[in-house]
Amino acid sequence: MKNWQGIWIVAEQWQGKLKRISFELLARARKLADKSGEPLSAVLFGYHLTEACQELIYHGADQVYMVDHPSLSQFDPDIYANCLEELVCEERPAVLVAGATTTGRTLMPILAARLKTGLTADCTDLDIEEGTGLLLQTRPAIGGNVMATIKTPNHRPQMATVRPRSYPPSPRDPARRGVIIEVKLSDEAFRTRFEILGFESIGDEQAQLEDAEVIVCAGRGLEKHTALFLIKELARLLGGAVGGTRPVVEQGWLPYPCQIGLSGKTVSPTLYIACGVSGAIQHLAGMRGSKFVIAINKDPRAQIFKVADLGIVGDVKEIIPRLITYLKEMKKDD
Ligand SMILES: Cc1cc2nc3c(=O)[nH]c(=O)nc-3n(C[C@H](O)[C@H](O)[C@H](O)COP(=O)(O)OP(=O)(O)OC[C@H]3O[C@@H](n4cnc5c(N)ncnc54)[C@H](O)[C@@H]3O)c2cc1C
Repeated sequence: MKNWQGIWIVAEQWQGKLKRISFELLARARKLADKSGEPLSAVLFGYHLTEACQELIYHGADQVYMVDHPSLSQFDPDIYANCLEELVCEERPAVLVAGATTTGRTLMPILAARLKTGLTADCTDLDIEEGTGLLLQTRPAIGGNVMATIKTPNHRPQMATVRPRSYPPSPRDPARRGVIIEVKLSDEAFRTRFEILGFESIGDEQAQLEDAEVIVCAGRGLEKHTALFLIKELARLLGGAVGGTRPVVEQGWLPYPCQIGLSGKTVSPTLYIACGVSGAIQHLAGMRGSKFVIAINKDPRAQIFKVADLGIVGDVKEIIPRLITYLKEMKKDD
């Protein structure tokens, strides 16, 4: 039997196109592989994958395990878990990292339970411990008030999921060389108890959030559901997306995919406008990567001002209409 060795990431694709999380995972894992001196492999499941596998090499993988099969064109938790389990038991990687995406959050717990190993979900940082070579898995704990670093000394593989957008993607280098290994798995691996009836796409507004360059975020300071039209109008004029804090989502003003923070999405837009947001640590966990933050809050002592590049002290219901009027005027002049 092989020794547990090597750093693996589980890449993700949709219709043959790699998702951004694949490159974020490669960037993180490349650093781990270089530090530990172990090879970096990516696993990719899907159908018609050769080009995507090559891209994974250009972005940092030393080798790619390609599992190319028509039954893998859509995410089926049973089939994906069977395939990954078979592959991991055969190749025995020391470290297995996936995105804390819907796919990663579904797949990795199934696998960890089957392999009787640990799993640290939603990590914001990964490192290799000097001396032991163990994977250090860091994530917020106790409601985001402390950062906990977790190790898996006695079981293998060491498994973690990583928050999307918590790390910049690896750059593309077409001069990189690597190996694509076409994996053949048993017929049993492709058996499933699921029947996929169809797909429904989520609204454009929600789909855009993680990729948006501009985000206008609604906080409880909006006071009324009806004031949301101000946020939507401001986002529209700036060509941005709408996000919200947890109370705004819990009150049903916005759907859950719009939630930004510890228990929602992590975003890193160029411009983030926080409207009536207090700046609780759990919210900041999701937007700290924003490049320029504007905060509008009527309380000059609000925490959000500590992370803002520009702070406006005032009532959102007065400030936002003025911004909207100004932007409309500007557009007219153009
Ligand atoms: C385990 C855990 C996970 C969590 N996950 C998340 C998460 O993912 N995302 C998240 O957002 N929160 C999360 N929270 C909740 C978080 O702690 C805060 O309660 C939440 O972020 C506060 O939302 P808010 O800023 O909209 O509301 P508030 O804290 O109520 O703040 C409203 C702000 O609006 C200001 N304001 C009021 N009226 C006006 C006005 N007319 N004009 C201008 N300003 C005004 C007030 O001064 C205040 O600062 C989590 C909490 C826990 C314990």
